[in-house]
Amino acid sequence: MNRRNVLKSLGLGLSAGWMMPSLLTSCKKDDPGPEVPFEGKVAIIGAGAAGMYAADILKAKGIEVYILEASGEMGGRIRSLRNQTNYQEIYGQDKPFEFGVDFPIELGAELFYGSDSIWGKSVRNYNLPTQELAAVGVDRYVLDNMAKTAADFAGDGDFSAVQNFVNTLPDYTGGAQTVQQAAGLSSRANKLLNAQAGNRYSSNSDTIGAQLLAEDLKASAHDNKWIMMKANPMQDFLLSRFSAITDLIQLNTPVSSINYSGDVISIMDKNGVEHEAQKVIVTVPLSILKTGGISFSPGLSGVNTSAMNQFGVASAIRVVIDFKKNFWGDNSGYIWGGTTAPQFLNSGVGRSAFSRTLSFTIYGTAAAALSGMTRDQQIAAILAELDQIYAGQATQFVRRDLTSNNIISAVKDWTKEEYIKGGNSYPLASATMADRENISKPIDDKIYFAGEATDVSGDAGTINGALASAERVTTEVIESILGITI
Ligand SMILES: Cc1cc2nc3c(=O)[nH]c(=O)nc-3n(C[C@H](O)[C@H](O)[C@H](O)COP(=O)(O)OP(=O)(O)OC[C@H]3O[C@@H](n4cnc5c(N)ncnc54)[C@H](O)[C@@H]3O)c2cc1C
Repeated sequence: MNRRNVLKSLGLGLSAGWMMPSLLTSCKKDDPGPEVPFEGKVAIIGAGAAGMYAADILKAKGIEVYILEASGEMGGRIRSLRNQTNYQEIYGQDKPFEFGVDFPIELGAELFYGSDSIWGKSVRNYNLPTQELAAVGVDRYVLDNMAKTAADFAGDGDFSAVQNFVNTLPDYTGGAQTVQQAAGLSSRANKLLNAQAGNRYSSNSDTIGAQLLAEDLKASAHDNKWIMMKANPMQDFLLSRFSAITDLIQLNTPVSSINYSGDVISIMDKNGVEHEAQKVIVTVPLSILKTGGISFSPGLSGVNTSAMNQFGVASAIRVVIDFKKNFWGDNSGYIWGGTTAPQFLNSGVGRSAFSRTLSFTIYGTAAAALSGMTRDQQIAAILAELDQIYAGQATQFVRRDLTSNNIISAVKDWTKEEYIKGGNSYPLASATMADRENISKPIDDKIYFAGEATDVSGDAGTINGALASAERVTTEVIESILGITI
């Protein structure tokens, strides 16, 4: 029996686990599966999408579970502007800016992939309004400092070569090379490639490995719709979806060490408090594990650590800037190919009549460069690039706060977030799917791993990857409790 079927036979059908755990717990007669008999406790480290979903599934099966979260909020890399109170960090001033928008502004994940993906199905079950990007937006591409549509670039050899590479990437079989090496394009084309097949996957095209990226793209089973929430901030939805387990989360509790040498696992937090559990699920970002943010005793196995070394986590910044005029085109979707800002979204498209806000998603060397600047310099650098592309209109039309005269903008530097330290995991050139599986190999039936970097369903680096990893890891925990071997 494969993992998926084991989960189903336990009454945790993939969609049931996602759609109905509160029903499963609160309304026992409707419970399609048995509870799992377990005397011990499961501790989950990290309250992002993976940790919250794993807790939800385990709680629904009657297993005692709790979550230790380092930061002061739930959601991890799903974080919505309106929930933020750290005004200096985000706005560079002591009070929030009034963005002229009537849709949610996101600092982390800003859309989800797949109407039939785990997250997509849940949003549908809740009947939340959404907007598919391709239904309203036409992407633009920047070459020679001009942003044009694909139709405008018809006949441009470099443009076609990039699109051809991106479109056929899932079929790539050229071995252990970076995306840039695999594409073998001109330096003019490489800038666009870096946006569409580098930044798009959380780093640069000269560091991401083509081989595993291709395998991931091929493995991903949901449709390829890119969908924005129309009215609900992503973080609000996550919290309301998992309201059954939010009281099990201990905020401001950074775990510093995990000792699993005895029958009872000892988890020490930085406040000096010891927590105990029989099993631990670690869902912290890969960057935290790779930089020794949690020390394990005994140390992690070589299988886990050498697999982790096949993946990187690059710098990441989200910048949102308000303008008085939409000079980039009403029907623009994403705009790909800048150097300072390789990827930005006309974020109001299809969501607002006042579509005058740009959301910049910046990874890799471009994010590292911005990260070293002051906030004013960051905004100035982005405006300077936009001015080149749009003939000075960015500076001309940027909105300023009437009282302070500051530019209405928000900045989230994920690299500086102590318990995130960057963007998302990406595969290096020699990484394989076996490495992804090995990152999360359970240790001694005690230590388990989840989180976007451990997803083997083709969705690593995304919300769906995090959620799929929660389904995988809870299956592993339940198998180990029940003694089922697959
Ligand atoms: C800028 C940006 C844009 C993105 N855009 C998209 C998008 O449009 N669509 C999409 O699908 N995905 C997107 N993603 C990716 C998506 O947000 C993540 O893949 C997903 O949210 C990761 O969930 P997770 O549970 O694996 O990890 P996280 O959400 O990072 O959760 C891990 C948690 O562990 C906590 N933690 C860390 N160390 C400790 C410790 N020592 N003790 C206790 N807790 C600890 C952290 O504080 C965090 O809350 C984006 C990410 C970023 C950064």
